[in-house]
Amino acid sequence: MYAEIVASGTELLMGETQDTNSSYLGARLPALGMELRQITLVGDDMERYVEVLERSWRRNPFTFTTGGLGPTVDDMTREAIARVFGEEPYVDAEQRQVLMNLFKSRGQEMPQRNIKQAWLVPSARAIPNKMGTAPGWWAEKEGHVVIAMPGPPRELYEMWEHQVVPQIKARVKESVVLTRTIKTIGLGEALVDEMATEVLGIENPYVGTYAKPDGIYLRIIARGKSEAEAAALLRPVEEKLVRIFGKNVWGTDDEAPEESVGTLLRQRGLTLATMESCTGGMLANYITNVAGSSGYYKGGIISYTNELKIASGVPSDLIETHGAVSEQVAAAMAQAARVRLKADVGIGVTGVAGPEALEGKPPGTVYIGLADAKEAKATYYRFPANDRTLVKRRAVTSALLALRAHLAGA
Ligand code: AMP
Ligand code: MG
Repeated sequence: MYAEIVASGTELLMGETQDTNSSYLGARLPALGMELRQITLVGDDMERYVEVLERSWRRNPFTFTTGGLGPTVDDMTREAIARVFGEEPYVDAEQRQVLMNLFKSRGQEMPQRNIKQAWLVPSARAIPNKMGTAPGWWAEKEGHVVIAMPGPPRELYEMWEHQVVPQIKARVKESVVLTRTIKTIGLGEALVDEMATEVLGIENPYVGTYAKPDGIYLRIIARGKSEAEAAALLRPVEEKLVRIFGKNVWGTDDEAPEESVGTLLRQRGLTLATMESCTGGMLANYITNVAGSSGYYKGGIISYTNELKIASGVPSDLIETHGAVSEQVAAAMAQAARVRLKADVGIGVTGVAGPEALEGKPPGTVYIGLADAKEAKATYYRFPANDRTLVKRRAVTSALLALRAHLAGA
C-alpha cells in the first residue's frame, strides 16, 4: 500500500526547522504495511500546496500532511484539502464547543482567528489533539485518504500514536507486517550487498541494507495475512542472513552496542574499566546508560592530559617514544585502567577528535586498546573528521563493538 507525505511550512524550506515529522512517520509506516514513495516539502503557498496535495491524493491510498493547522492565514492545510476535494469548509458545532472549552479551561478568551480550527468539510472528520488546539483531519474521498496532522512534533507524535495508528490498523487489518533488523560490523556496504544477493530483490520478505555509524544494517520486512504467516516468511531469511554474516552480526532490532556488551559481560561474569582521552567520558556515559551496568562496570578515568595518563599508570616512555595517540599508549591505557580499577577487562581510547592535527596525526585518528589478564592490544581507526562529536561517537561505538567481538570470541 503506497503512501506519501506532504510537509508544509515556509520555515522548512528556509532551513529554520528540520522536517523531523516526516522522518518520524517514515520510520513507522513500514510496520503498518505502507510503502512511502515520496516526501514533499512545500512552503505556505496555496497554489503549490494544492498542486502537490492533489497529485498525492490521486495516486496514493494514503497521504499524510504535517503542519499548517494553526489559526493564522499562513496555515492553509484545511483550505488546501477543501480545494482539492472541491468542498466548502464550515464551522462544525461540536468542534467549536471543544475549542471553546479548551480556551476556557486555560482561562483565556478564544481569539476569533482560532475559529477555523473548528472547520470541517463534508468528507472530513476531526482527529482529537490532546496536546494543542488544532484537531487533525481524517479526510477521505474516492477511496483515498488524506490525514492532516499538526506541525509541532509532540502534538503530531501523540496524535499519530493514539489516534491515527489505531484507525489505520482497523482499516488495513488484513495485513500484518513484521520487521527484523540485523546489525553487522566490519564489512563495507557493497560487500554486505554482495553477500546478501540471494535474498535481495525479493518483494516479500523485502530485505534492504542501510549504512549506519555502527555498521551496516540489514532490514527484513515480511507481510502476511496473519502474524504466523508473516513470521513464517521472515524466519528463514533471518536464519540465512545470520548464517551468511556469522560473527559480523553484533545485534538485532533496537539493541545498542552498549547493551550487547553489557549482556555478554554479565553472562561471562566479567568486570570492565575504561580510560579515555579523546572521547572525554563519552564511553563511560554510554556504558552507564544501560540499566544494571553497575553490576559489571567498575568505572573510568578521563586522562585528557599526558600527566594524568602517566599518573594513572601509563608508562611515560611509551608516550615519549610513540606519542599519546598511538597503538602502544592505547594498549597501555587499557591495561592501566584494568589494573588501577581492579577489573577483568580494560578499554583505552586515545585519538584526535579534531579539527586540528595532533602529534602530526590527522583528525579522526583513533586507537582503541583492549586488555585482559592475558594480553593488551590496540587497533587503529580512521574516521571522517568533519565533526568532533561524530568522531567521538564513532570512537565510542567502535570501542564497544571491539569489546563485543573480543568477548564473543573469548
Ligand atoms: P504549523 O502547524 O505549520 O503552524 O507548525 C507549527 C510548528 O511546528 C512550526 O513552527 C515548527 O516549529 C513545527 N513544525 C512544523 N512542521 C514540522 C515538521 N515537518 N517537522 C518538525 N517540526 C515541524
Ligand atoms: Mg506553518
